Amino acid sequence: MTDVGSGPALPVAGLTPLTTLDYPGRLACVVFLQGCPLRCGYCHNPHMIPPRRGQVREWREVESFLETRRGLLEAVVFSGGEPTRHPHLLLAIQRARERGFGIGLHTAGSYPRRLSTLIPNLDWVGLDVKGGAAQIDRITGRGRQWRQLCDSLDQLLAADLALECRTTVHWRDFDEATVERLARWLAAKGVRHYALQWARPQQCLSPSYQQPSPIANPLPDLAKRLRPLFETLSVR
Ligand code: SF4
Repeated sequence: MTDVGSGPALPVAGLTPLTTLDYPGRLACVVFLQGCPLRCGYCHNPHMIPPRRGQVREWREVESFLETRRGLLEAVVFSGGEPTRHPHLLLAIQRARERGFGIGLHTAGSYPRRLSTLIPNLDWVGLDVKGGAAQIDRITGRGRQWRQLCDSLDQLLAADLALECRTTVHWRDFDEATVERLARWLAAKGVRHYALQWARPQQCLSPSYQQPSPIANPLPDLAKRLRPLFETLSVR
C-alpha cells in the first residue's frame, strides 16, 4: 500500500501548462490522469483508457511545476481519462488548493461516492452528460451509468460551485430529437450552463465511429431553439 504521507500516488499522463479553455474565465493548467472505466465509441484519447498504478514521484513533478506558477496561474483542472477513479485525487486537490489555486474537475460522474468527498474542495466542474437513460450505457459501453450520472448531477447541483454540463454528439449515438430531450431535461433539473460538442470522426476509438456523418451538423440550429433555456449554451 502507498504511504500517502509522502504524497498522493497518481498516474499523471500529461500536463497542459496553460489553457483558457478548460476552466471558463480562468488561467489554468490541466493535469491528465490515466485510466477510464468507460468505452465511448467516439473517444479521441484511447491511450488514456487503460488503468495504470501511479507513483508519488509523478504528482511531486506536478507540484514542482505549480510552485513555479504561483501568482501566474489561477486554477488547476484535473482531467482524464476519469480522474475521480483515483483514491488519491482528494489529497492532490487539497495540496493544490493549499498553494492558492482554484480547482476544476472534468468528470463523467461515474464515481458519485468519491465525488461527494471532493465537492467541498471544488470550484468548477465540467460534467460530461454522455446520454439520457435510454442511451448512456450503449454510448459508454458500461452498465449502470444512468444512476451514477444522476447521483453525481444531483450532488453538483446542490453544491456551492460553478457547473457546466456538456454532451458530445456523434451521429451514431443520437438523433436531433434525442439531444433536444436530454437538453430540456437538464434545463428542468436546474442546469444553467450547457455545451454541445459535435464529435469528429477522426481518431475515434471504435472504427464504426470513424465514418463521416451522413447528415449535416444539426447542433447550431438546435442551439437556437434551446438557448432560452440556459444562461449559456455553447456549441463547440
Ligand atoms: S471519451 Fe469516454 S472513454 Fe474516452 S476518456 Fe472520455 S470518458 Fe473515457
